[in-house]
Amino acid sequence: MPFDSIPGPGPEPLAQRLRTEVQSGAAVLPVDPEGHAARERIRSRALELGFDECRFTTADPPARGPFLERWLAEGRHGRMQWLARRVERRTDPRKVLPGASTLVMVAVSYGQPEGFEHGAQGSVGVVARYARALDYHDWMGERLRALAAFVEEIGPAGTRTLWYVDTGPILERELAERAGVGFVGKHTNLISRRWGNWLLLGEVLTTWALPPDQPEHNRCGRCTRCMEACPTGAIVAPFQLDARLCISYLTIELRGPIPVELRPAIGNRIFGCDDCLAVCPWNRFAREGRLMRQYGRPELGSMDLTSLLELDEPGFRRLFGQTPIARARYSGFRRNVCVALGNVGGPECRPALERAAQDADPLVAEHARWALARLRERGL
Ligand code: SF4
Ligand code: SF4
Repeated sequence: MPFDSIPGPGPEPLAQRLRTEVQSGAAVLPVDPEGHAARERIRSRALELGFDECRFTTADPPARGPFLERWLAEGRHGRMQWLARRVERRTDPRKVLPGASTLVMVAVSYGQPEGFEHGAQGSVGVVARYARALDYHDWMGERLRALAAFVEEIGPAGTRTLWYVDTGPILERELAERAGVGFVGKHTNLISRRWGNWLLLGEVLTTWALPPDQPEHNRCGRCTRCMEACPTGAIVAPFQLDARLCISYLTIELRGPIPVELRPAIGNRIFGCDDCLAVCPWNRFAREGRLMRQYGRPELGSMDLTSLLELDEPGFRRLFGQTPIARARYSGFRRNVCVALGNVGGPECRPALERAAQDADPLVAEHARWALARLRERGL
């Protein structure tokens, strides 16, 4: 999953939900024919731009904002220090854009055609689904910029906007739930009843007051499949993710060594992890999004690990420079490849690992030595 958001405390109790709906205006929507018409024009423009969903909520602080502070105090964000910065802005969109009144929440489905799943056979590394594409920050960003310009163009004089594609201090999953795009599941990701678990989110904040859509609410029921499927036990309780244990964090965000005790559970995942999302029963509604047909790069789904370890830096940039995989950086990516080779590689991988064990990059060299020891442990 894209590692970009903060886990919430769980489904809102009914009383709280009703309070939220009343505060957000969703439960007592004033009759405002002009606002509704404008909202539909913006929605149409968003769909025309290729977004799969476009819904509206108020710029009121998300109800679960206070839980962010507790999560941070417990250190569950690991070394993602940026999450601890500007917390007061993160918990109140009106501090991000003074005078903000509405959030236009958009989503793109990165679901893939039925039957598209790579088996984990042999010395093959697996990349999280969302990263099997050109970098969504670029192509969603272009479209969000166009949507923001449209809002300013048709809005009342002086309308201001600001847009983000998981780049700003916004609790976007909570706000997307309040806009009715989907609900936050026990794995802390957003689930749509129309698109399943595979959604990339973005938003336009605006000073223009537009009527909000109806919020969504949690629909996990007694299901716990995602918690059982997590290879590292990172979903420590329903709706509580300890990022320090999550493979998405370990293989993407963490700079430096991966804790030795977690390396075996990483298996052949070389960038991110989808296990908790993939097992969710709501994926029966998943469909391929229109933009992913254009920007998807399914060939990145599984790649030969030995060839990846032998890539030089220009080769890494050529292959992955325009994809989310670039975020792991050359050094971090080769670190991940070493771990995967140790876990799933065969004896034919040994020479490449022996060369990597002498690498000038101490991070790669240490992980390569670990991988060689792991091959021995596996009797190879
Ligand atoms: S299954 Fe576990 S490790 Fe993988 S993304 Fe989900 S929470 Fe993280
Ligand atoms: S797998 Fe089950 S518990 Fe987890 S998010 Fe999906 S519905 Fe909720």
